[in-house]
Amino acid sequence: MLHAEITSPEIESNYVLEPVFTSRITVVRDFLQSCSVNSIIDINLTRKMTQKGGAPFLHSLFIFLSMLSSLCDCHPHPAQSNSSMATVRAVSNHTTKKASDIAAEVAGYADVAKQIIDLAVFGAAQNRSYRRLADFTDTIGNRVSGSQNLEMAIKYMYKAITQDGLDVHLEPVKIPHWVRGKESAEMIVPRPKSLAILGLGSSVGTPPEGIEAEVLVVKSFEELNRRASEAVGRIVVFNQPFVSYGETVAYRAFGASEAAKVGAVATLIRSITPFSINSPHTGWQDYKDGVKRIPTACITMEDAELMWRMAQRGQKIVVRLTMGAETLPDADSFNTVVEIKGWQHPEQVVLLSGHLDSWDVGQGAMDDGGGAMISWEALSLIKDLGLRPRRTLRTVLWTAEEQGGVGAQQYYNLHKVNMSNFDLVMESDLGTFAPMALQFTGSDAARKVMEEVVKLLAPINMTKLETHGEGTDISPWMQSGVPGASLHVADSRYFWFHHTEGDTMMVQDPQDMNLCSALWAVVAYVVADLEDMLPR
Ligand SMILES: [Zn+2]
Repeated sequence: MLHAEITSPEIESNYVLEPVFTSRITVVRDFLQSCSVNSIIDINLTRKMTQKGGAPFLHSLFIFLSMLSSLCDCHPHPAQSNSSMATVRAVSNHTTKKASDIAAEVAGYADVAKQIIDLAVFGAAQNRSYRRLADFTDTIGNRVSGSQNLEMAIKYMYKAITQDGLDVHLEPVKIPHWVRGKESAEMIVPRPKSLAILGLGSSVGTPPEGIEAEVLVVKSFEELNRRASEAVGRIVVFNQPFVSYGETVAYRAFGASEAAKVGAVATLIRSITPFSINSPHTGWQDYKDGVKRIPTACITMEDAELMWRMAQRGQKIVVRLTMGAETLPDADSFNTVVEIKGWQHPEQVVLLSGHLDSWDVGQGAMDDGGGAMISWEALSLIKDLGLRPRRTLRTVLWTAEEQGGVGAQQYYNLHKVNMSNFDLVMESDLGTFAPMALQFTGSDAARKVMEEVVKLLAPINMTKLETHGEGTDISPWMQSGVPGASLHVADSRYFWFHHTEGDTMMVQDPQDMNLCSALWAVVAYVVADLEDMLPR
C-alpha cells in the first residue's frame, strides 16, 4: 500500500475531508490490512464549504496516491474550474435531440449489445455470475448487519473483484448490530406444541425464563383496537392474510408497538409470505418512540392459522416465548464500490447495485446475493470486452440494507452534493430469476430514451419497459428526481423464500442469472455511453 501526506496548498485550499470520514480512514486501513491484496482506498473529499479563513479543518491526512490521479464524482479535479464543470453538465444534459435522432443513436449500439449478450449467455462468461454467487455463499454463508460474516463478506468481495481486474474501494458506514440469541416458543395450552419462530430484527429479548401468557389472536389492527381490553397482559398473535408484501409487511413492522399500546406483553406475527412449509420469515421491525418495547417474532402461516381456529372455537391458548435478542453498539462497515471510469465524463455516473448483507438465516443467495453478483458481473462483461463508456459505471454493493437501507442512505447523504452528475441509478433486489422487464422511473423524455435502449435486448426477447423503478437503496435518488431502474423478474416465488432458511443456492438458476447479467450490462453500458445524460 502506498500513501502520501497531503501537502499541496492547492488541494488544501480546495478540499476538506468529509467530517464523517475523518475518524474512519484508520478504520478502512485497518480493515483492509487483513486482505492480502494491494488496497486502493478512495477517500471522499468535498469542496471546502467554509469561508476563506474559516475553521482549520484540514489536518495532515494520509491519502493513497491512487486517488491523486483518480478522482470520483465527489472530488472535482482541482485543475478543473467550476465554470468548466458547469459547461460539461449543461452540454451533457441538453434535451433538444429529436426522437428519431435518439432512436438512431441507440440503434447504433445493436452490435455491442449483441456482443455483451453473447458473452454473458453463450460465451466464456456463461454461468459465471452463478458460480461466483455459489462460491461466495458457500464460503461466507449468511451475513447480517454487524456480524463477523458481513465483515468477511466485504473482504471476500474486495479481494475477488480486485483479482477480477476491476477498481474497487470501500466507503465506511456505521450500521446497526442486532443479535438474535437463543429463541424458542411453545404452545402449552390446549396442548403442547413447539412453534417455529424467528425473532424480528431490533426486537428486545424476553427475561431468561421467557414470557408465559394467554394468547389473543386477531386478524387486523382494526380488530386489535376493537378488542383492546382483551389484549392487556396477553401475547397478541396477528393472523393477518397476505395481500401483498408492500401492504402486509406493516404487521411485521408495527405489530409490536400497536400491541404494546393496548397492553400486550409480546407479539407473534404470521410470516409475511403467500406460501409456507412451516417456515418462519424474519425481517426488520420498528418500535414507535414512546411506546413500550415488547418482544416480537414471526411464526409460520400454519401455526397462526392453527391458533386462529382454536380461538374461534373458544379454546384458551397459552404460549411461552423465550428470546435472547439484544442490540449491541453500532458497528463499522463499508459500502463496496467498483468502477470503470468514463473516458469523457468521469464525474458522471451510471450506478448499478445490490446489497451484500442478508438476514442471519439461510444463505442470502436470493436476497440479495444474486443482485450483488449481477451488478459485479455487468462490469466484468464490459471490462472483458475491452469497452469503456463515456461516463463512469459504478457498482455499489450496499451494506445493511435489511436494517432499512442504512448503507445506501449514508451513501446518498455523502454523494448527493453531486446529484446532477448521477445519470441513472439501478438496483436489483427482487431476485435474479428469469427477467421479464426493466422497471423505470423518470421523465417522459427519459422514458423515450429507455424505450429505445431496451430494444437492444431483442436477442434475449426482453424489450419491455415498465413504470416504477424500485428499490430501498435507490429510492432516495429517485425521490430527488434522478432516473432509476430495477429488474422485474419472474418473482412469483420470491416471497416464499424471502428472509428464511430456504434462501439458498437451490432457488437460483444459472441461465436466469446469465440473462439478468446481460440485461443489466447492456442497459448500464449504453446509458453510460450515450452522448447525453438522460433528461430529467
Ligand atoms: Zn434485499
